[in-house]
Amino acid sequence: MVLCLVGCALLAVVWGMTFNMVRLEREGGYRAAASSAMELGDTYEAQVVRALREIDQSLRFIQHMHLHEGPRVDLADLKARGLLPPDLLFVVGVTDRAGIVLSSSRPSGFHDVTGEDFFRQQRGADTFFISRPRLGRDGEWKIDFSHRLSDARGGFDGVVFVTVAASYFVAGYEPSRLGAQGVLGLIGRDGIFRARRTGDAVMQGEKADYSTLLAMPADRLPAPVVNTWDHVRRYTVARELFEFPVAVVVGLSESEQMAEADERIAADLWRAGVASALLLALFAGLAALQWKLSHTRATADRALRTEVAIRRKAEAALNLRNRAVESSVNAVLISDLSRPGNPIEYVNPAFEKITGYSAGEVIGRDARFLFGGDTDQPAVLEIQKAIRERREARAVLRNYRKDGSPFWNEYSVAPVRDEDGNVTHFVEVMNDVTEAKTYEEQLAHQANFDGLTGLANRNLLQDRLQRAIATARRDGESLAVVFLDLDNFKNINDGLGHNVGDRLLKIIAARLQACVRENDTVSRHGGDEFVILLPEAAHSRSSQEAGLTVAVSKLLTHVSEPLALEGRQLRPTCSMGVSIFPHDGEDADTLLRNADAAMYRAKELGRNRMQFFTAEVHERIHQRMELESSLRLALEKQEFVLHYQPQVDLGHGGIVGIEALLRWRHPTRGLLYPGEFIAFAEETGLIVPIGEWVLNEACRQSVAWQRAGLPKVPVSVNMSALQCEQPDVVDMVRRALDASGLDANLLELEITESLSMANPGQSVPLMEALKSTGVMLAIDDFGTGFSNLSYLRRFPIDRLKIDLSFVRDIATDPGSLAISEAIISMSHNLKLQVVAEGVETEDQLALLDARQCDSIQGFYFSPPLASAPMAELLREGRRLAMPLGRRRQAARAVRM
Ligand code: C2E
Ligand code: MG
Ligand code: MG
Repeated sequence: MVLCLVGCALLAVVWGMTFNMVRLEREGGYRAAASSAMELGDTYEAQVVRALREIDQSLRFIQHMHLHEGPRVDLADLKARGLLPPDLLFVVGVTDRAGIVLSSSRPSGFHDVTGEDFFRQQRGADTFFISRPRLGRDGEWKIDFSHRLSDARGGFDGVVFVTVAASYFVAGYEPSRLGAQGVLGLIGRDGIFRARRTGDAVMQGEKADYSTLLAMPADRLPAPVVNTWDHVRRYTVARELFEFPVAVVVGLSESEQMAEADERIAADLWRAGVASALLLALFAGLAALQWKLSHTRATADRALRTEVAIRRKAEAALNLRNRAVESSVNAVLISDLSRPGNPIEYVNPAFEKITGYSAGEVIGRDARFLFGGDTDQPAVLEIQKAIRERREARAVLRNYRKDGSPFWNEYSVAPVRDEDGNVTHFVEVMNDVTEAKTYEEQLAHQANFDGLTGLANRNLLQDRLQRAIATARRDGESLAVVFLDLDNFKNINDGLGHNVGDRLLKIIAARLQACVRENDTVSRHGGDEFVILLPEAAHSRSSQEAGLTVAVSKLLTHVSEPLALEGRQLRPTCSMGVSIFPHDGEDADTLLRNADAAMYRAKELGRNRMQFFTAEVHERIHQRMELESSLRLALEKQEFVLHYQPQVDLGHGGIVGIEALLRWRHPTRGLLYPGEFIAFAEETGLIVPIGEWVLNEACRQSVAWQRAGLPKVPVSVNMSALQCEQPDVVDMVRRALDASGLDANLLELEITESLSMANPGQSVPLMEALKSTGVMLAIDDFGTGFSNLSYLRRFPIDRLKIDLSFVRDIATDPGSLAISEAIISMSHNLKLQVVAEGVETEDQLALLDARQCDSIQGFYFSPPLASAPMAELLREGRRLAMPLGRRRQAARAVRM
């Protein structure tokens, strides 16, 4: 850039100077030419004036002679006396007043001048008249100068004239000064050149603009102008002569005059051009040099920058790696293999944190101390071998912290090589996997143990059972599988909440665990089911059963010990089924299935008991399987019937309700009761269509009885939990009422206590919706479900039915009596009617009656009946025996 500026400045100087010189040259040339023109003008003017004066004087002389000496002027005499201008150049002539040439110094060529301008001119008045050039007879251009000749009175008396060759006036043309294109001329006031010479050419008679020519100031140097006569630019000087009517014109051709100057200018320009070219070449060279230099420098800079960047990157990468190692959560240590004992050279903070050793304590030591004395671990041997063989390795092993505690870690070693490929160091990374190991162990535990009770789970039991079977088979021994299920656990769970249920399960688990031997296995099989595995010595079946009865009874007793949970006294019971290897099954699944079947039988037989797997149980299983398959077809085959059980009022003894109870007319097994199939129907969902059939049938039957003229008695229908969960249960009720035409208030729906209490948030709206159809609602089996009695207030119900288990024991068990009594009085407080179920004896009746139970249902009055006998009963209008009514009234009277 700077170079460029300097170059431009130098060029400007060169050309500035050159143009200045050119200007000076031009000005000098111009001044020289103009001065020369002025000078020539002066000289020429002087020459012409001298010639004209001479001519004028000669003419005036003759004029004077004519005036004084008479018209006959002797020209020859005058010539001889030398009074005439030189004869060679000038011809002098005299005419008379008629224009006839009287005499001439030399033959003038004229005889008569009357036709000439000057004659006409002079005749008017005397003047020094210079005529326009004319071509003489000798072929030469002539100019005539004349004066008038006057007589004594002043009248016109002729003309005296001098004829001169026109070229005479431009003979002073000096080519050396005027050049070939200069001009020397004499021009009359009429603008006609009398003579003009340029180079060798003499011209006459051309026309020029006289006033323009003369307008140029005479005292100043002339500027070049284009001459109109020949269009050449000249420094032109024109001067009108003071005494004569002509002007002299001198011109110097501009091109000729400036030729020298132009040459010098050209030389100057050429020199400047050359100098510029040299300068340009020089600067171009310099610029090229500079560009090359800067290019080289830029390349060098770039290379330097790249190198710096690479170095910085490398440094950053190294820093990053350092920081990464420093902040790694894994312990990293580097040991030096070039020194004996492979001393530790570096440990990172994670190492210090994990092992508890500070860097200062371990640097310089052999890393093997981390294995403690535990160097027999196969993984340790593998790592040591890898270090000896200078190769990578990875293993999970135990190390020891400074405080001596072991920790598991994934230990990996990798050799570090120098530039020659020799292993100089080893990097050892320890990834603490203690947590993962613990987690693994936990997972293994979870996979095999029950999370709630800590007992073996289904998996582990299977495993142990299979092993036990294998051992028993090998040793000819035996073993027993006990399947245990808590009674009514669902009620506890639903009524008291899952937390209470869970706590109960834990307590039961602990109780079971407490009363088995060390090599027995207690497992939780899911929900409230437990399985106990009891390896046994092989004995006869009977002695084995006897021994097992003792062991299992112990379990029963322990489980059913009373306990308090959530401020409630509970007495959990369980039902157990026992199967024995190899009699009841030779593989785990069969043994479990048969123990389960036996347990199921124990439930059927009244719960809180044990049952061995027997031929009868086997038969029951078989029946059950058959039952299951035939139940699916029963509805289609119209095998269901309803039986009806009347409810009687304890006041007047009349029938106040009829409960519809489902029966199945089994094609092979005869009439089956709900206890044999209802649970299964619920499990399979078949209870929904079956329940709908019951509702429709009960409504239909009730209307049929009415139509038959029997008294209007409300009919009660049992609703299962699954039925109530159906979204269209209310519609179903409406449909049944509509289809049958039964009055809604003659239908009562019985909902079990456990269902209503399981989730009051849902059951209250459901009951309200059912109630909105106009039907009555009753809570069935009341007293078995750990009810939260405060909810009862919110239930839109009409009646409570005391569960038959209380009624059964009412006469023998004060507890049952107390509960029945409490239920009756509470119901009355809530303005609810109370029905006692399962009244079989007069004692029971009397007790209930004394406690003001409203009505009863039971064998005492009537078992459930088929529709025809039920209709008969209604028609008869049978009542409860009157003595009871009287007792009742009496009791009331006493109370009053
Ligand atoms: P539940 O609703 O409590 O019905 C009363 C049960 O007590 C009936 O048993 C009845 O035969 C029996 N019973 C009546 N009086 C006495 C008596 O004096 N002593 C004894 N020991 N028992 C008496 P059943 O008919 O075997 O029905 C058992 C249960 O099956 C019913 O108990 C009810 O919960 C259910 N059930 C019956 N029919 C249906 C039905 O159509 N749908 C649904 N979901 N469940 C039904
Ligand atoms: Mg019922
Ligand atoms: Mg009942």
